[in-house]
Amino acid sequence: MDAPVIVVGAGPAGMMLAGELRLAGVAVVVLERLERRTGESRGLGFTARTLETFDQRGILARFGDVETSTLGHFGGLPLDFGVLDGACQAAKTVPQSVTEAHLEDWVTGLGADIRRGHEVVAVHDDGDGVDVEVRGPDGRHTLRAAYLVGCDGGRSTVRKAAGFDFPGTAATMEMYLADIKGIELKPRMIGETLPGGMVMVGPLPGGTTRIVVCERGTPPRRREGPPSFDEVAAAWQRLTGDDISAAEPVWVSAFGDATRQVTEYRRGRVILAGDSAHIHLPAGGQGMNTGIQDSVNLGWKLAAVVRGTAPPSLLDTYHSERHAVGKRLLMNTRAQGLLFLSGAEVQPLRDSLRELMAYEDVARHLAAMVSGLEISYEVGGGSHPLLGRRMPRLELTTGSGERTSSTELLRPARGVLLDLADNPRLRRRAAAWSERVDVVTARPYAPSGPDGPDGPAGPAGPAGPAGPAGATTALLIRPDGYVAWAAPGSHHDLPMALERWFGAP
Ligand SMILES: Cc1cc2nc3c(=O)[nH]c(=O)nc-3n(C[C@H](O)[C@H](O)[C@H](O)COP(=O)(O)OP(=O)(O)OC[C@H]3O[C@@H](n4cnc5c(N)ncnc54)[C@H](O)[C@@H]3O)c2cc1C
Repeated sequence: MDAPVIVVGAGPAGMMLAGELRLAGVAVVVLERLERRTGESRGLGFTARTLETFDQRGILARFGDVETSTLGHFGGLPLDFGVLDGACQAAKTVPQSVTEAHLEDWVTGLGADIRRGHEVVAVHDDGDGVDVEVRGPDGRHTLRAAYLVGCDGGRSTVRKAAGFDFPGTAATMEMYLADIKGIELKPRMIGETLPGGMVMVGPLPGGTTRIVVCERGTPPRRREGPPSFDEVAAAWQRLTGDDISAAEPVWVSAFGDATRQVTEYRRGRVILAGDSAHIHLPAGGQGMNTGIQDSVNLGWKLAAVVRGTAPPSLLDTYHSERHAVGKRLLMNTRAQGLLFLSGAEVQPLRDSLRELMAYEDVARHLAAMVSGLEISYEVGGGSHPLLGRRMPRLELTTGSGERTSSTELLRPARGVLLDLADNPRLRRRAAAWSERVDVVTARPYAPSGPDGPDGPAGPAGPAGPAGPAGATTALLIRPDGYVAWAAPGSHHDLPMALERWFGAP
């Protein structure tokens, strides 16, 4: 084997996966066909869940002061994500190029072997390993790995070469995006529909403006390169009547509404994550985020299988958990596309939905869906409200009196058993997994002073309030930050949960 795992693609999904594997001590080679990053702004900002994920891994600080906001939309209809418990904040106006640069620095520091200028052209899984044919600066060569993960984007070579089914619907129209300078445009929100289509204007850092132009009736086209800015400016003028041809284009691109998802996320030793597994209309800023979350779900499982501490069947949960998430992503982006790309015939539907969204339950449902905070994995059942849900940040004081938090405890990307009741029996039961799971005895931090001991103590947040922390005596948190077992309230006992997620002791 040249490496236990080869990752194809150094986009956000590939970088995140490489980081997770390195944190688990697994050697990883990343093959990227581009000599250098594109610098394309694409996904602007990240969702509250990605923000939490970056915080869990200690990456968030690299972004400096990120501007956050609760304001978003569903299909162009304004939606305040603050309706979610814990006032859900998403990071705004961080160009994807910046996110990719920080991820690459992080992963390089962790010792991943990133090989740029290396394009994967063929893949062969013989059951014992995967041969990967690579076209590199010195010609063609073959590498072999125990597992290959295609994070190589919407047109994935790995997906095609390994024979994954990718059903769905083809693009029905072409839309334009341009980052421009040198011209003043008034901000236009997504959803501001015009007789011929929809346009959007938003600020980017450094005096650049992002415009999106969706002109109904523009047929989809297979292009070899980006559209010219003249095409974009002409479509803009047809829709708005304004002439923007004097603007200086920084980046011009076309995109469509093709919507597809692979039927299986793993075929033997070949696995897919990110856009290689799902493509959809970029509505609501979810594509990059979903890819990052795919990788965080996969990384610790793949590492455990490669290290031999968990059986390959653990990887089946990657498919079952993330395929279900991808399916809802496709559903909601399709629905949003219908809302903001259709014409006047859909106005009654928009008006009806706008009325419904005034109900807090409806707004909360949609916000949780788009932000990824609704996710609830099947972890064996029980009555505790956090079971299968993300662990919200919980401030803690350890047995030795140090301040920490559930977020900080997840930095090494290992399992965490949080013993909130100083229970020696619980600790003894988990001792056999001590190489894979950190056992931390702590109590919720309760500041003295006006907030008193009933201060911010309970694990609450968008996943649903867990009630006062006093009622929860223990939580088993997976490396990806989801609660796999809780006491009281889990149907399974602790050793069963530990074995299910971390392998036999
Ligand atoms: C206009 C637009 C706006 C968007 N806005 C948002 C947003 O606001 N929020 C959001 O979350 N998402 C957004 N997205 C989606 C987001 O850009 C993608 O979902 C994201 O880039 C997917 O990440 P990825 O790592 O899966 O794939 P990619 O970013 O596509 O990375 C794949 C990598 O694989 C490499 N590669 C491909 N083939 C090979 C090969 N054969 N060998 C080696 N390397 C290969 C590529 O060069 C590339 O570097 C937007 C997309 C568009 C087009």
